[in-house]
Amino acid sequence: MNPHTSMIEPELPRLRELRRDLHAHPQLAYQETYASDRICAELDRLGIPYTRGLAETGIVAWVTPGDPGFRTRPAIAFRADMDALPIHETTGVPYASCTDGVMHACGHDGHMTLLLGLAAVLVQVRDRLPQPVKLIFQPAEEQAAGAARMIEAGALSAQWGDAAIGRLIGFHNWPGLDLGRFAIKRGAFFASADLFRVVVRGRGGHGAMPHLGSDAILAAAHIICALQSIVSRNLDPVRPGVVSVGSIHAGTAENILPGEVVFEGTIRAMDEGSRALLHRRVGEVAAGVAVGLGCEAEAWVEQGYPVLTNEDGCVEFVQDSVVHAAGREHLDILTEPVLGAEDFAFYVRHVPAAYFLFGVRGTGGATSAGLHNSGYDFNDDALGRVLPVLATMALAPADVL
Ligand SMILES: [Zn+2]
Ligand SMILES: [Zn+2]
Repeated sequence: MNPHTSMIEPELPRLRELRRDLHAHPQLAYQETYASDRICAELDRLGIPYTRGLAETGIVAWVTPGDPGFRTRPAIAFRADMDALPIHETTGVPYASCTDGVMHACGHDGHMTLLLGLAAVLVQVRDRLPQPVKLIFQPAEEQAAGAARMIEAGALSAQWGDAAIGRLIGFHNWPGLDLGRFAIKRGAFFASADLFRVVVRGRGGHGAMPHLGSDAILAAAHIICALQSIVSRNLDPVRPGVVSVGSIHAGTAENILPGEVVFEGTIRAMDEGSRALLHRRVGEVAAGVAVGLGCEAEAWVEQGYPVLTNEDGCVEFVQDSVVHAAGREHLDILTEPVLGAEDFAFYVRHVPAAYFLFGVRGTGGATSAGLHNSGYDFNDDALGRVLPVLATMALAPADVL
C-alpha cells in the first residue's frame, strides 16, 4: 500500500462531491469565477495562503515547510486548468452542467479537484515537507492561452510564496488509458497548434457564363487539395505534421460564382523547423495555385500554442514517482507524440517541467466517451489513483529536485 494512502482515503468522499459541484458549474475561458471562488474557499478552509486574480480567475497557492531550513529550497509546483467548453452536455448525470451549452468535457473539473486533494494532504504533512510546494490554478487552457497570461502575471515568479520554482508538473486525464495507468514521453510530447486563414479572390459572375469571370471556388478547391501535398511532399517523412482545413465559407446561390472564398485550418508540428516550413508552404501553395487558375490568394497564420517539450530530468522524476506510488507495471513510456496541443507548452519554456497522462477508462458508463464529447464525464475513481503519485512528488526528498 502506498505510504500516503491513509491520508488520502478519508479525503476522497469530499473530493468526489467537490468534483461534481465543479462539474455542475462550468464556465468558459477567463470567466471561471465559480471555480475560482470554490478553490479559494477550500484553500481558506485548509489555511493555505494564495494570491488570486492572476489572468482574471487564476490562483497561485503555496505550502511552506515547517522546517525553516527547507523554506529557501526551490519549490515543486503543480498546475491544473480550470476552463470548460462550449458543448451542450448529454451525460444525463445528476450533477450535469447547470448552464446550457457549457460543460466540463475535458475533465478540468477533475484536475482542479486533484490539486485541492493534494493541498488537503500537504497541510497534514507540512512539518515534514522537504521543499515548498506551489499549486497553480490556471484559466483558459482550451484555446485562449491562459498559461501565457499566467506567466505574464508572474505565476512562475519567486514573489508568490517566497520561493522560486525548481520543477513544474502538469497532467491530463486520458480516456484512452485504463484507470490506474500513467503515461509520459521524453522530449516533444504535444504539438504546436497554429491557425491559418486563406482568402481566395476571383471575379464573380453568372454560373452559366464562367468564361467571363474567374472562379474562386474552383481555385479554393484546388488549393485545399494541393495543401495536402505539403506534409506528404515538403515535410521530412520522419517528422510528424498536420495541415487540416476545418471551415470554408463562400457563395450565396447555386448559379452565382462568388468573388471570394475564405477557409481556415490548423497546422500542427513537433519541432520549430517543421512548424516554420508548414507556415511558409501554406502561403506559397495557396498563392501559386490561385495564380494558375486566374485568381489570387493570401494566407495568414496566427501563432497558437508552441510544442510541449518535456525536460529529461523532470520526466525521470515523474517516472520514479509513478513507480514508487503505483508500481512499474502501471507506467507506459510513450514513444509517439500526440498531435493535440496543450498550453502547458508555455511553462516549459521558462522552468524545468514535465507533463504526464493518467488513465480514466473504466468499465462502461459516461467515462467511455472521449475528451470534448458531450457524453464525457471525469472518472472520480481516478482521484484515489493519481493523488498518491502527486503526494509522492511533493514529498520527494529535496535533493532529487
Ligand atoms: Zn480540452
Ligand atoms: Zn483539457
